[in-house]
Amino acid sequence: MTDAFDPDAGKAKLYLVATPIGNLNEMSPRAIAVLKAVDVIACEDTRTSGVLLKHFSIQKKRIAYHKFNEEQSAAGILALLREGKNVALISDAGYPLINDPGQLLVSAVVCAGIEVVPISGPNAAVDALVASGLTVQPYAFIGFLPQSGTERRKKLKEYESLSMTLIFYEAPHRIEKMLTDALHILGDRPCCIGRELTKIHEEFLRGTIAEVLEAVKGRKGEMVVIIAGAQKKAASPSLAEGLALVQKKIASGARMSAAVKEAAAETGIARNILYDLVQEKRNEA
Ligand code: SAM
Repeated sequence: MTDAFDPDAGKAKLYLVATPIGNLNEMSPRAIAVLKAVDVIACEDTRTSGVLLKHFSIQKKRIAYHKFNEEQSAAGILALLREGKNVALISDAGYPLINDPGQLLVSAVVCAGIEVVPISGPNAAVDALVASGLTVQPYAFIGFLPQSGTERRKKLKEYESLSMTLIFYEAPHRIEKMLTDALHILGDRPCCIGRELTKIHEEFLRGTIAEVLEAVKGRKGEMVVIIAGAQKKAASPSLAEGLALVQKKIASGARMSAAVKEAAAETGIARNILYDLVQEKRNEA
């Protein structure tokens, strides 16, 4: 295996380094090596990351890159990369960009033709998904829903018909409101909350949305919500199948009117349509 971090390559790169979401043992040796080797570490919060970096004896120049200075900081980081400086981007936890700052920077760096290197590591969404017991693929990562109730319900309505597993992040003080809205809009589907992942009090709450809503009451901590996708409705029978059913009933001795009535009830096809189909068929014969 060759390592993507090659300080002798001469060309500056932007490293996207995933960091622990709770358990510091999940900091990878490669992440530590990269953070020790780059020229600058751009942090979502320099103080929060300072604790992590100190723990791993990483002494490096830190700069702030967060949602309130994103444009200005991205321009500064781009300038550093153009000067040939290697830069690592980290967020408070998990992957940068995943509901964390970084999108603007990575788009700009890719546009500038500068290499971007992801350094793998923990991610709360994937941890919860794989342990949920729900169908893992395909899935849609939604992240946080809007905080306003109206906007949240509007968004949930957009996802109502998606047949893929849905992944949400949610704050503990909004979890009950979010699940209540999900219950009303998506229906009482299978659900799982992954709480305090990788930490001492890690737990999974599994059941239907209504059951999980009951179980989560009073619980605090960080949470990922996994909700099963919409069930596909059985395909409606075709007109040809409706006609065949009427003909079968007539062949077994039913009167035309009874056969049509029964077939209409069984297929959901309107009676007059079935009548017309049978008549057409008779006229053709
Ligand atoms: N960048 C992170 C990632 O890759 O997972 C996500 C950051 S986002 C700002 C924070 C949200 O992620 C939390 O509100 C929670 O929904 C989820 N999260 C982060 N750490 C978690 C953990 N240890 N257990 C459960 N959920 C977690």
